[in-house]
Amino acid sequence: MNVIERSQFFVGGAWVGPKGDGIVEVISPNDESLIGHFPEATTADVDVAVETARRAFDDGSWRRAPVQQRIDVARRLGTLIGSRSGEFIQLIINEMGAPISGGAGAAGQVLGVPVLVDLLTGFATDFPWISERSAPGGVSRSLVVHEPVGVVGAIIPWNGPLFLAMAKMVPALISGCTVVVKPAPETALDAYLLAEIASEAGIPPGVLSIVPGGREAGAHLVAHPLVDKITFTGSTAAGRQIAAVCGQQLKRASLELGGKSAAIVLDDADMSTTIPALVAGGLGNNGQQCFALSRVLVSSTRHGELVDALASTFGALRVGHALDPATELGPLISAAQRDRVEGYIARGTSDGARILTGGRRPTGLDKGWYVEPTLLDGVDNRSAVAQEEIFGPVISVIEYRDEADALAKANDSIFGLSGAVFTEDVSHGVDIAREVRTGTFHVNHFGGNLAAPFGGFKCSGIGREWGPEGLSDFTELKTINLPPAAG
Ligand code: NAD
Repeated sequence: MNVIERSQFFVGGAWVGPKGDGIVEVISPNDESLIGHFPEATTADVDVAVETARRAFDDGSWRRAPVQQRIDVARRLGTLIGSRSGEFIQLIINEMGAPISGGAGAAGQVLGVPVLVDLLTGFATDFPWISERSAPGGVSRSLVVHEPVGVVGAIIPWNGPLFLAMAKMVPALISGCTVVVKPAPETALDAYLLAEIASEAGIPPGVLSIVPGGREAGAHLVAHPLVDKITFTGSTAAGRQIAAVCGQQLKRASLELGGKSAAIVLDDADMSTTIPALVAGGLGNNGQQCFALSRVLVSSTRHGELVDALASTFGALRVGHALDPATELGPLISAAQRDRVEGYIARGTSDGARILTGGRRPTGLDKGWYVEPTLLDGVDNRSAVAQEEIFGPVISVIEYRDEADALAKANDSIFGLSGAVFTEDVSHGVDIAREVRTGTFHVNHFGGNLAAPFGGFKCSGIGREWGPEGLSDFTELKTINLPPAAG
């Protein structure tokens, strides 16, 4: 593959030169080869993008355009991404080492985008942008208007670059906002492809800018006084900093943060559905997914059977270069992330956990940042590996005494993103779901529903993406009180 060379930024639909001279090299986690490079956005580049977005918002032609016009642009964007899906998939495999297959794999991430756009544009068609409300008696009448929240700063992580960017951009654009996207430096090259497509889709001048850079560029975007709202997906640590800055400015913020989700395996679980769901939930995207089922709770009744099945499945998984179609588990995003994951495995064993399988770097993979799929047993729910987000292919098995203890352990976490229960009795599974304090929950499977809201309780975030709720998050409500009805 040729090295991809980018030398400009996409600002309001035009390609402009950088203000600084920093260059970011994108290195493949698969084999440490150079994939490409781009200029690093400085705070001055972010300023230009924000000022452009502000002018375009205040000018009013985008926010006043009929919503159908914005929906049409979003639909074209989705269709064009679909038509270039092969390029995106290839790039995402190279940038982040996501294997092609699996729901969170490179193909799933890219092919999910047209589905998401279809759903969001459908919801936007039926959305109550303006409605009339009367108090009883009909004397007080108001128009209730969903107005665009304004200039949006969208900050994206590396673990689902295109999909997570689109989950923010599309509802923001449909709502009439103007948007500055800051992709993660590890995966900025696919954002360049997105910029090319955005122009082709007919996004008007000024409305969209993409400025790839690191933490400093992100922090500058967050603090910028001309930005009305931040929509952020990333770690809870960064989310706390962003929330503090937004809180000080009373700036709107939606935060999609980390997780430590528990899968509760009840004594009547069917292992033929439980094991594949736990493998997808724990190891999808090489264990680098926010709603990963990284804790598995099981009673002594099914413990032996469960760990035997999980250990043999983990042990048989093919770890390797994500471009190899036979690969089931690829590398971690960076050497630093691999070291961090290895540090957690060591910490787990020193805290008393046993490694049932994995725990090392796979043999024969000298280049790239790989860790074997790792199953830790006998984990204490209060220990670091059970409480902190590892973001790698490491699953902790924790024993519970009875259902009340399972629920208490599932809830004993600062996070509240997701979770799952496995049981023959689906209606009892729904009862369990209602008792776990998380924004999403699965009964007898692992996956997502793009028509339903996604987001976290507790330290997993604030706000929701997807569904009509994902549109509301980019609007402000205005009530216009009308003169009392005559008579
Ligand atoms: P990260 O927080 O390090 O970085 C995310 C993005 O924020 C990057 O673009 C980064 O440059 C930027 N950034 C970092 N610090 C910032 C700051 N102080 N101000 C402004 N911008 C800042 O996270 P990551 O390692 O890229 O992504 C992994 C994390 O994202 C995990 O914790 C994962 O759980 C979380 N995540 C959550 C969801 C969700 O929907 N809840 C989805 C995907 C990933």
